[in-house]
Amino acid sequence: MAGRPRKDDSIVIVGAGIFGLSTALHLARRGYRNVTVFDRQDYDTGLYSYHNGCDAASADLNKIIRSAYGTQTEYQELSFEAIKHWHAWNEELANGNVPPGMSSTDKVFYNSGAISINSGEVLPPFEQATIEAMTKLGHGDTQLATTDPKQATAAQKLGFNIDQFNAQARGKPTVGVLDTSGGFAVADKACRFALHKARAYGAKFVFGPTVGAFDSLVHAGKDVVGIRTKDGKVHLAKQTIMACGAYTPVLVPELDGLAEATAGSVAVFQIPKTSDLFTRLSAENFPIWMYNMRSGQDGGLYGFPVDPQGYFKIGYRGTKYTNPQVQPDGKERSVPVTRYTKGDTITQIPTKAMNTIASFVAEYLPEILEEGHDVAFTRVCWYTDTFDNHFVIDQVPQQPGLMVVTGGSGHAFKYLPNIGNWVADIIEGVGSDRPAIKAWRWRKKGDSKPVNVLMEGKKGARALQNVTLMSQINGRSTKRSALL
Ligand SMILES: Cc1cc2nc3c(=O)[nH]c(=O)nc-3n(C[C@H](O)[C@H](O)[C@H](O)COP(=O)(O)OP(=O)(O)OC[C@H]3O[C@@H](n4cnc5c(N)ncnc54)[C@H](O)[C@@H]3O)c2cc1C
Repeated sequence: MAGRPRKDDSIVIVGAGIFGLSTALHLARRGYRNVTVFDRQDYDTGLYSYHNGCDAASADLNKIIRSAYGTQTEYQELSFEAIKHWHAWNEELANGNVPPGMSSTDKVFYNSGAISINSGEVLPPFEQATIEAMTKLGHGDTQLATTDPKQATAAQKLGFNIDQFNAQARGKPTVGVLDTSGGFAVADKACRFALHKARAYGAKFVFGPTVGAFDSLVHAGKDVVGIRTKDGKVHLAKQTIMACGAYTPVLVPELDGLAEATAGSVAVFQIPKTSDLFTRLSAENFPIWMYNMRSGQDGGLYGFPVDPQGYFKIGYRGTKYTNPQVQPDGKERSVPVTRYTKGDTITQIPTKAMNTIASFVAEYLPEILEEGHDVAFTRVCWYTDTFDNHFVIDQVPQQPGLMVVTGGSGHAFKYLPNIGNWVADIIEGVGSDRPAIKAWRWRKKGDSKPVNVLMEGKKGARALQNVTLMSQINGRSTKRSALL
C-alpha cells in the first residue's frame, strides 16, 4: 500500500532538472537513504549546457532571480529564502566545495540587481503591488522605484545602474522598480553544483538515453510501485516522482487542463570582448531586466548582462507557443521540440518573437546593431505552464504512490536551492497549510484565478505549426511545416 516513504524506502525521481535535483538534494540531506534520479540526458558529459546538446529548461546560460511578485507574497518569501541559499552556495564554492570541472572562483549567483521596466509614464499596478507587499514583509528597502528621485539616488549609491539603456540621454523616462536583492543564476553551473551536492548527500543518478529514460509506470493493483526504464529494467519505489519539466504533461496525462508545454523564444547576440559594449553590458554595470512583462504579445521581454564568452541573451515570453501533437490516447498535447535545424544552421524561433526582440534592441540598445553584432544563436526553450502559473507539487489523484513536481511556469529556476526542501515537507505532510503549499496542490480550472489558456490544440494561433520561424535579424523567414 502506498503511504509516506520511510527513510530507507526507495524513492525514484524522473528528471534531473531543477525540480528533480533540488528534491533529491533535500530528501538525501534529510536522511532518505535510497533516492535515485533517472534522466535520459547524461549531465555528467553534457554539463547542463545547451551547446553540449542538453535541452532541458534548466540547462541554460543564465536565469533571472528576483523577488518582485506583485501581491504574491508566498513567492516573495520563497525567493528571499532562495537568495540566502544562493549566497551560501557561492560561499561554499569559494571555500572549495567544487564540482568536477568547476573552480573555486566560479559563482552560481550574481547579485547584479533585477529591474522591471515599462514603456508607460507611471508605475503599473503590479510594480506598486510589489513595493507594498515587500514593505509589509520587511523587505521594502530592496525595491527601489526609478520614478522616485530619492530611491533612484539610493540605487545609484548602492552601485546599481538604473539607466542601463541610456534612456535619459535619449530623452525617455525609465519607469520601473529595481530589486536590489536580485540578479541572475549561472544556470548550467548552478545545476552542476546542485548535482554535486545531492551526490555528496548520497542521492544516486542514472543518466543516459536507455538506462535513464522513463518508459512506463509500474503498477501493483491501483498503486504506482516504480518505473520501467527504456532498457526494460524495473525500478521499484515506495514513492515515484515525475519531474520531467515540459515533458511531464505528456507522460502524466492526468495533468490535462492543469499544465502544458509552451515555448519561450531566446536570441543570443555575440558581443566581442574588443567592443566597449562588452564592459558596458557586463554584470557590474548592467542589471538583469524585464520589459513590459504584462503587456501581451508585444511585450514580455527580458535579458541578462553579457557573459564571459560574450553571449548577450534576450528572451521573449509575450506569446507562449505550443506544439500540439496527437497522443496514443487520441488527445492532442503540446510536445517540446527543442531544435528546428533542418535547412538552417541554427535553431529558429517564431518570427514574431524575433521581430519583437529586434525592435527592442533597435530602440533600447541600437549600438548592438550599429556595430553589426547579429544573433549568434536562437533557441526555443520549453516552459511547463499551469493555468494559474502556480507550480504543481502533489500526489496524483487515483494514482497512489505517484507524485508530480512540475509546473515551473517560467519562474521556478530561482528556487533550485530550496524548492526541494518544500517538496520534502509535502511528502512528509509538514506545514501543509502554508499558502505556497496550498497553491501547488492538485487543482482544476475554476479552483484558482486563471492566467494562461491551455490546450488550444493544433488550430490555436499559438501552435508552432501555424507560425513562421526565423533565426537572424534581417534573415530569412521560413514556414515551420517546410522544415519538418
Ligand atoms: C526560456 C525560459 C526562460 C526561463 N527563465 C527563467 C528565469 O529567468 N528565472 C526562473 O526562475 N525561471 C525561469 N524559467 C523557468 C525555469 O527554467 C523552469 O521552471 C525550470 O528550469 C523547470 O525545471 P524542471 O525540472 O521542471 O524541468 P527541466 O529543466 O526541463 O528538466 C526536466 C528533465 O526531465 C528529463 N526528462 C524528460 N523526459 C524524460 C524521460 N522520458 N525520461 C527521463 N528523463 C526525462 C529531461 O531530460 C530534463 O532533464 C525559464 C524557462 C524557460 C523555458
